[in-house]
Amino acid sequence: MLKKQVFGTTKEGENIYLVSLACGAYSAEILSLGGVLKSLKVPDRYGSVRDVVLGFDNPLDNLTSTTYFGQIVGRFANRIAKGRFSIDGVEYQMETNDGENSLHSGKSNFGWKNWHMEPFEWSGSPGVVLSLYSPDGDGGMPGSVNCTVTYLLRPSGELVIEYEATTTQKTLMNLTNHSYFNLGGAASGSVLKHEVLLNCDRYLPVDEHLIPTGEVRDVEGTPFDFTTKKPLGRDIEEVGGYDHCFVLAKHNSQLFEFAQVYDPTSGRTMRISTSLPAVQMYTGNFLDGKTIGKAGVAYPQHGGVCFETQYYPDSPNHPNFPSCLLKSTSVYKHTTKFSFGVK
Ligand code: BGC
Repeated sequence: MLKKQVFGTTKEGENIYLVSLACGAYSAEILSLGGVLKSLKVPDRYGSVRDVVLGFDNPLDNLTSTTYFGQIVGRFANRIAKGRFSIDGVEYQMETNDGENSLHSGKSNFGWKNWHMEPFEWSGSPGVVLSLYSPDGDGGMPGSVNCTVTYLLRPSGELVIEYEATTTQKTLMNLTNHSYFNLGGAASGSVLKHEVLLNCDRYLPVDEHLIPTGEVRDVEGTPFDFTTKKPLGRDIEEVGGYDHCFVLAKHNSQLFEFAQVYDPTSGRTMRISTSLPAVQMYTGNFLDGKTIGKAGVAYPQHGGVCFETQYYPDSPNHPNFPSCLLKSTSVYKHTTKFSFGVK
């Protein structure tokens, strides 16, 4: 099933659309504003269906919140030190919105923009293509960019997100989806009992502003070692909450399954694969019970966990990190797949 409806209006008077995808036991809602994954309903081991992503009832609430719930974040997801980078010797300055650094591209973040949406059906799977034009100089970045993001929901319980972008001039491109997952249901409290396995053998140590130091460190023997499944909460106090970039054990532009998540209470499972080199695992450390989400529920600290597949944070300033530079002659093309099941 596929439905597109007007769901509100932006301050500029543009329609905000909502596309609903339903397929087998699964359903998802996507908003044109921010390309937000507004809801994702998944059955538990007894067949009881619940929404497993955090978010707001009113799409405009996304614009006044720094949670980035469910957004497509770009052009550069995550942090860039001092909002500065250079390409071919030319220096660029982005907006700084996180102390003296740039987080999620400041005001030009794709997650604040109203995208064009076209629903479609493909071999029994409903989907939607979102498209956006970002002009040269947007957020201090060079090149006019055309970007499309496709959400596809499969009857087997897979949500596939495909990212594509082209530019007229060399620029940075690092797109992600900023969904907070709680496999017990968005309103069910903390995720610290979720068991997580990450096929990530290294992580990026950060400074006090969460900017990578440049070192790429082995996870072995650290609280960042999720190569054997463990509850998210087991070592979390040692790190004061995870908000770190984990490096996938394998990266060759094919889909690589790097995460398995299991909620022992509901029995829901989620596996994640991506063609991107890394993931920011963020355990909702800045949620504090004051953000009121869907159905009036307040989200507590660690009320959700994000797996933001991406290039490394601050990568333009670290030659030893994989480059997210997009040339006018190439196409940025990446896929991330979330597969749900029960145990
Ligand atoms: C960042 C966090 C930030 C959060 C905003 C995440 O991608 O890693 O540091 O607070 O986004 O909700």
